[in-house]
Amino acid sequence: MTSLEMALEYIKINNVKFLRFQFVDIHGEPKNIAYPVKLGTADGEEELMGVLENGLFFDGSSIEGFVEIEDSDMVLKPDLSTLSVLPWRPSEKSVARIICDVYRKNGKPFEGDPRGCLKRVLAEFKEEFKGEYFVGPEPEFFILKNENGKWVPGDDAGYFELEPLDEGNDLRRNIVFALENLGFHVEASHHEVAPGQHEVDFKYDNAVKTADSVITFKTTIKTLAKQSGVLATFMPKPFFGMNGSGMHCNQSIWLDGKPSFYDENNAHQLSDICLSYIGGILEHTKALVSVTNPTVNSYKRLVPGYEAPVNIAWANSNRTSIIRVPAARGKGTRVEFRAPDPACNPYLAFTVMLAAGLDGVRRKLIAPEPVEKNIFAMSEAEKREANIDSVPSNLYDAIEELRQDKVLKKALGDHIFNKFIEIKTKEYDAYRTAVTDWEFNKYVRI
Ligand code: GLU
Ligand code: MG
Ligand code: MG
Repeated sequence: MTSLEMALEYIKINNVKFLRFQFVDIHGEPKNIAYPVKLGTADGEEELMGVLENGLFFDGSSIEGFVEIEDSDMVLKPDLSTLSVLPWRPSEKSVARIICDVYRKNGKPFEGDPRGCLKRVLAEFKEEFKGEYFVGPEPEFFILKNENGKWVPGDDAGYFELEPLDEGNDLRRNIVFALENLGFHVEASHHEVAPGQHEVDFKYDNAVKTADSVITFKTTIKTLAKQSGVLATFMPKPFFGMNGSGMHCNQSIWLDGKPSFYDENNAHQLSDICLSYIGGILEHTKALVSVTNPTVNSYKRLVPGYEAPVNIAWANSNRTSIIRVPAARGKGTRVEFRAPDPACNPYLAFTVMLAAGLDGVRRKLIAPEPVEKNIFAMSEAEKREANIDSVPSNLYDAIEELRQDKVLKKALGDHIFNKFIEIKTKEYDAYRTAVTDWEFNKYVRI
């Protein structure tokens, strides 16, 4: 817990001149308003303490997924524990960001705030089960260089390769230092399978902290890449024929202050709670992906042959299923949902994954048997026989699944649910009606 006094001290010690009040829109795009700190002037400290305690007013009408123009006065209330100097800004008269919750001017939490949505679902979980939700994401990304006006992979290296093939290692080094300055516990970084593709993993934490970290992580990487003249992209499938970028989410729930997924006497050493949680995720997968894979491009990653999941099944080690339970047991027992990609809004993605898993726990669903075979090598008939369904093949079908899903609707709340469907339907329509190069080349001689 950070007190107001501690925040003030931090601002003084670090000579913070600009304090960015940060939040995200419905897509998970970070937004901010910079407040100029006026310490040393008459009333400067009082004014600063005022905005730290009561928040900063802003007009929410132009933020995607927020409110209409008639009712747009909102307040950004800072979460003091997130105060952090941005390492890529000048160290003299430095810049710090503070992540905020969005409130209406009547003092009520704003129902369209993705962070507030996740916090509400976590509070309900705490109330009902004394529960806590932990997530450890594995975001992948590409570093692209510009060649004759075209963005192409930054190098030709592959999985775990090193210099001279890996040309991203200096940038990855700077990224790790910057993330550590921002309070991250970085676990590993490496070159990924595709040319120009990388991964940096950081330690799991509670869902709000992890979602905040995903936003910070993307901003840090994109900013440092830009400073070195390259482009970092979290687009799920930038290139046909190469692996795409996922953001696998390792997750576990704790009940009554204790990990709940391990049971040494049960099948696979997984508790009934864990098997029900898996059952819940599998049952809601088709709707879930609309939120965890929210772009038109996301569905070009979810195809067979590129280590991205397609099949709605779980397994202990097989990476062709959508859920994998890594080998660790005991406190480290976790469920890895492999569908999400880094284009998702992490607050909303964690909200719907928890809601789906808990639906399984409440209904005591039992997950089907794990599928340890390579599902990519199974025929359609074999998959039907084994009852293995596939994820929706495009954003439109995923959104249609979401429309029907009452559990996810309740978790997102009416405001976000309706806005999300409206915005994503328009996005799909814009894509559907665009004429692509592929089509032109295919059909121009008809
Ligand atoms: N890039 C793969 C994906 O799209 C994941 C590779 C891995 O297992 O790390 O999910
Ligand atoms: Mg990876
Ligand atoms: Mg993984």
